[in-house]
Amino acid sequence: MSKPLVLTTRDELARERPELGRVVLVPTMGALHVGHRSLITAARDLPGTDTVAVSVFVNPLQFGPGEDYGRYPRTLDSDVEVCAELGVDVVFAPNAAEIYPEERPVVTVSAGPMGSVLEGEFRPGFFDGVLTVVTKLFNVVAPDVAVFGEKDAQQLAMVRQLVRDLSLPVRIVSCPTVRDPDGLATSSRNVYLSAAQRRTALHLSRALRAGADASAAGPRAILDAARAELDTGLAADPPLSVDYLALVDPETFREVPPDFTGAAVLAVAAWVGETRLIDNVPLDL
Ligand code: AMP
Repeated sequence: MSKPLVLTTRDELARERPELGRVVLVPTMGALHVGHRSLITAARDLPGTDTVAVSVFVNPLQFGPGEDYGRYPRTLDSDVEVCAELGVDVVFAPNAAEIYPEERPVVTVSAGPMGSVLEGEFRPGFFDGVLTVVTKLFNVVAPDVAVFGEKDAQQLAMVRQLVRDLSLPVRIVSCPTVRDPDGLATSSRNVYLSAAQRRTALHLSRALRAGADASAAGPRAILDAARAELDTGLAADPPLSVDYLALVDPETFREVPPDFTGAAVLAVAAWVGETRLIDNVPLDL
């Protein structure tokens, strides 16, 4: 188990970059869990990878006022240990001033229409913040490939759109959502949940499973089945509070019509107490 090279500045990275060969980047906000581990393992296993780089950066630009930027878990030492265990070569862990020397950039990436639906509707400016930092990380690290999780399906679709629209020379690879044995999608935010809140949170993955089980019967049946399960969550103690449940086209994130056939994503976002959770499942209709 060799320790990764931990770099915190753009200059350090620029000095090392010529020696790194073909770089596969796994961008994260840290507090690494089994979901991140699967991305790192996939990065390692891609043919032709010389260097696996993991970025750990809690991006202030993607948090709205009143969101959890301040209390987001920051566990760099144990993240570096996880990276060492998985054979990561480089950890890039800049502070906010390194990425945003002027606090807020004047020029940012605009996510366009897909950035204002679902996650974007409930978190205004979120995708502009995500795409701006992803662009900056791509510029600083200059990866050949970047790996993203399907757990954040709309983010994945937005990043693919970013790469196409801005002709970024990076290949995007995605990995399926990793779940705990009880079905809850692993997330750095799960540490916020009490045992009772976690029980309530299980209604998300159950709703998606209920929707998936109804997928042969079409969009309306899928949404009805998922909604019925979420309704149980609304009545739970503590209760679930749902931001959205939607069946969407995986590329545009527009809701699909009732007669739709083809690939779709059933996506949900909900609150348990002060914790906002998202989950989704890919479906073939
Ligand atoms: P985050 O640190 O939450 O910003 O996530 C960093 C990357 O890990 C993103 O590409 C996420 O989609 C991915 N990710 C987070 N949770 C999971 C999970 N449970 N399964 C697969 N990928 C995940």
